[in-house]
Amino acid sequence: MDSANQYDVAVIGGGPAGVAAAIAAGRMGVKTVLIEPNPYLGGAGTASMVGPWMTNYHQDTQVIKGIFQDIVDELVKYEGSTGTLKCPYDEPGKTQGTGGHITPFDGEILKYVLHKLVVKAGVNLFLNTFVDQVNSNEGTIESVGIRGKSFADTIKAKKFIDTTGDGDIAVQAGAEYEFGRKEDGLSQPVTAMFRMSYVDIDTFIEYTDRHRNDLVWLTYPILPDNLPSHFADKMVAVTGFNDLVAKGQESGELNLGRERITIFSDFKKGDVLFNATRLNRIDGTKNTDVIRAGLELKEQVLSLTSFARKHLPGFSNAFLSGASSQVGIRETRRIVGDYVLAQEDVLRGRKFDDGIAKGCFPVDIHSPTDRKNVWVELEDAYDIPYRCLLPVGLENVLVAGRCLSATHEALASARVQSHSMAQGQAAGIAAAMSAANGVTTREINVSQLQKYLRDQNAIVAGDLEVTG
Ligand SMILES: Cc1cc2nc3c(=O)[nH]c(=O)nc-3n(C[C@H](O)[C@H](O)[C@H](O)COP(=O)(O)OP(=O)(O)OC[C@H]3O[C@@H](n4cnc5c(N)ncnc54)[C@H](O)[C@@H]3O)c2cc1C
Repeated sequence: MDSANQYDVAVIGGGPAGVAAAIAAGRMGVKTVLIEPNPYLGGAGTASMVGPWMTNYHQDTQVIKGIFQDIVDELVKYEGSTGTLKCPYDEPGKTQGTGGHITPFDGEILKYVLHKLVVKAGVNLFLNTFVDQVNSNEGTIESVGIRGKSFADTIKAKKFIDTTGDGDIAVQAGAEYEFGRKEDGLSQPVTAMFRMSYVDIDTFIEYTDRHRNDLVWLTYPILPDNLPSHFADKMVAVTGFNDLVAKGQESGELNLGRERITIFSDFKKGDVLFNATRLNRIDGTKNTDVIRAGLELKEQVLSLTSFARKHLPGFSNAFLSGASSQVGIRETRRIVGDYVLAQEDVLRGRKFDDGIAKGCFPVDIHSPTDRKNVWVELEDAYDIPYRCLLPVGLENVLVAGRCLSATHEALASARVQSHSMAQGQAAGIAAAMSAANGVTTREINVSQLQKYLRDQNAIVAGDLEVTG
């Protein structure tokens, strides 16, 4: 095989987890390749318009930095984000909908920033390229087949990181996985995010302020001073309008799979992002399901935009200015690793000696069967053990992000994008270490991994004494 196709680390999937993994491995000085089927990086954050980034803070303590923070800083430089914003609530301790902080970002500027950082880290990037074959032998992946519009090739690597969200690569190499809830195998619903522009935010904010009792949660993120003049000077994040939704659904005027509407106004004046459509019982790994969901969710998008124009104060002149091109898939396969992160670990803020990243987003379950949501606050930030990145039975493969080894409930916290990046960064360094030292992914020195993570400005086990 051409040595140009031989790598130390191959990262498959260029979403938040994969980008962080590739940058981290590249910064360790090993030969790294990142393979992504879309023409750009960012995963759900760009292709499915998913934002803002949910909290990287537990209460007032920042628990995720590292490559996540590098990306935020770079976005701010290009006027693609305000940076992280605190979200105050009326009730002390409540963080519903945001986790207490959000980081809004511009998806188009994010595509550029991620591409730039990946190249700067020395990573060889394949876009428009999918993996169509996994060649493995007794738990070791030897190579993957890749295919693009005008080429097909083979990529050989010492270590592989599966950041496909669905665990596609690990499963083809023989990894065990779980799907959905324990009781019925159903996973969280799918959603098409969308944006409306030309919203009169002042009118909308006044309305939310006067109708707090009708809302499930409401927060006005605190903007820093000295933002560029074309940025918004006020923001709101809100969910509710349940009566309005119920009436619209009863009369047939509104086609929506949820009992309420969630809206994040953006830092771009007059823009708001809706996280409101919903379809249940979709298997995000089945093309036919995803194609059907794409059509049904777009019908919900169009129904809600015209409903909002008529019934939401501030929206009378607003129009649809963007919708997710890929259906937003919250959950599919969760790879079974040496440790399975559990709900209690997350809720109680459990610490682990081999913690390689922190988590702080509350457990947020969009019901797999009906129109409701469950939200449970955390007692403290928790550690994500290195063992959650190691698929049982595989010797040179790591996973991170949405296909992490976690229960349905624990993943409902650990899956958000800041958390996926923190896990990806750890997977990238671990893969680089095991490639460089000629050992399996299980044999690396985890204290050394934690040290390298700190060198890359990440926060790991024992670094913070966060109190609930
Ligand atoms: C509707 C919705 C709302 C959400 N709300 C928020 C929110 O407000 N804030 C937040 O922070 N998080 C939110 N999340 C969660 C978050 O977006 C995801 O959990 C996160 O993007 C997971 O990152 P990832 O890198 O693991 O996977 P993904 O973002 O899914 O990226 C996976 C990447 O792998 C690529 N890929 C897939 N299969 C293959 C293959 N076979 N070969 C090669 N590449 C492949 C894909 O093209 C993609 O780029 C939401 C998710 C959804 C769906």
